[in-house]
Amino acid sequence: MVIRSAQFDDVYFSAEDGLAETTHVFLDGNNLPAAWDGQDDFTIGEMGFGTGLNFLAAWALFEKKSRPTQRLNFVSVEKYPLSKTEIKEALAAWTGELGVKLDRLLDMYPIRVPGPHVVHVTDRVTLTIWFGDVLECLPEWSAPIDAWFLDGFTPAKNPDMWSDDLFRHMARLSHDRTTYATFTAAGFVRRGLLAAGFTAEKTKGFGRKRDMVIGGFDGGAARPDRIIPQSIAIIGGGLAGCAMAYAFKRQGIKATIYEAEDSLASGASGGALGMINPKLTAKPSPQADYYMAAYAHALRVLSDIDGVDFNIHGSTHLCRDDDKDRRFTGYVENLGWHEDHIVRQGRDLYYPDGASVSPFKLCHALAKGAEVVLNHTVKSLSDIKEEVVILANGYALDDLIDGDLSLQSVRGQVSWVKPQSNINGNICFSGYVTPKTPDGFHILGSSYQPWDKNIDVREEDHADNIRRYNDAMDGNIIADDVIGGWAALRTASKDRFPIVGSLKDNIYVSTAHGSHGIISSLMAAEIIAMQLIQGAVPAFRSVLRALSPMRFHKY
Ligand code: SAM
Repeated sequence: MVIRSAQFDDVYFSAEDGLAETTHVFLDGNNLPAAWDGQDDFTIGEMGFGTGLNFLAAWALFEKKSRPTQRLNFVSVEKYPLSKTEIKEALAAWTGELGVKLDRLLDMYPIRVPGPHVVHVTDRVTLTIWFGDVLECLPEWSAPIDAWFLDGFTPAKNPDMWSDDLFRHMARLSHDRTTYATFTAAGFVRRGLLAAGFTAEKTKGFGRKRDMVIGGFDGGAARPDRIIPQSIAIIGGGLAGCAMAYAFKRQGIKATIYEAEDSLASGASGGALGMINPKLTAKPSPQADYYMAAYAHALRVLSDIDGVDFNIHGSTHLCRDDDKDRRFTGYVENLGWHEDHIVRQGRDLYYPDGASVSPFKLCHALAKGAEVVLNHTVKSLSDIKEEVVILANGYALDDLIDGDLSLQSVRGQVSWVKPQSNINGNICFSGYVTPKTPDGFHILGSSYQPWDKNIDVREEDHADNIRRYNDAMDGNIIADDVIGGWAALRTASKDRFPIVGSLKDNIYVSTAHGSHGIISSLMAAEIIAMQLIQGAVPAFRSVLRALSPMRFHKY
């Protein structure tokens, strides 16, 4: 099917044969596969992800024509993401050549919320799609690009995109061997590329098109080598640490987790069921950007891991006052979510993708393949022999660094209650309740007690959890419905935002994930792994600044 954009009044690819066009213009135009010969990893940057046809074609070629140790990164941007159904229909002609890959792409296709989305497509192929405008996203990119696929609709119909800013950022990300190819031969595009420091050569276009343009970056520094640390120590075997091990594994790097207790997930990460919900702000903010990406990321990662009790059942956020009403209106109106993923139900807010997972099982699954050293308390960073250290040991990490990050522990107690027929998804109010765990109880949470380091289960905390639930849900849970409970210490920062990033050379921090620990840990791990290997970091710079340990680090 030839798919056409109403916005731009243009087609996504040639009506003659889209796949042949992709091969001619973008793959041959960038001299692929020859260009990745001898490279450990190769990064393609694309303007306009569209149906993903260019990506699928590049991946298929890579699979056929690369060595098993090589890696492909494909970084793309898309302002108007298509739905899975639209993509499936648009690419139906190539299910023979691309079917398995198309299915994988559709399985892992991000929910349509703005911002960066990393998709680990295979062990060797990573796709990073930024949902947003090219001119807003490209300035956020930092990884060097080896080949550009300059797609995007025809300059006559999409003049804003083909701007000097675009060419300037392409130049910033290019090195002395970078190439590009584009289907258009428009004079102002050629002139813009030349002015930004690229060469521009007209060659035969695809099909009936007379010309297209290819070129390279003239000048520029040598391509930086991929940085692979020889050894990595992760301190802490909770979600933050196990997620780090997983992110490194996805990059083909094995890490060692040091855990003081006799099991992974021994602390606050050891719950039976945890919720996958976003945490938003009424206006765009680095906080909302981070949690949006983290929520979308968690949904993809968890759908890709077996045996962790992952279930998508939706998440309802109750609105019982005007302040919340205004906030929910802001989420829907200001943050650019596609309506498939955020729904106003009366005054309440519903996230259809809201989910739950067993954090305990997840920790174990994430850590698979890493070396795990239990019963090992790291007393000083000078005892660590590994080249890189990731501090993921909650509030205790303040004891290991010079100065401190002013971390707080926050006691949280949950109550396990007998099955309630009206609870089938996550429900959030001033507290929350989860759907039934596989063991048949709901988790009602949670107390919030900074500085209280006691983890005994208390009757009065059960009573508080029940009261909050009954008030919000008009419920009638009584003390006798409580069949058990659990208390643990989470870690929080002074501004209640996670602390993620580099503390100093080869020392990174992932902590203070607070009450959104599952989604935040997974996202933080991806960010740190990409920072460390100087790959395509999936975060806006403003988010990295807001997360940075340097905002608190005092000597
Ligand atoms: N490469 C695509 C494929 O393989 O299907 C085809 C791309 S299509 C010709 C152009 C794409 O660029 C469309 O999906 C369009 O929404 C996107 N686009 C156009 N202007 C954009 C902008 N300013 N920022 C981000 N994406 C843009």
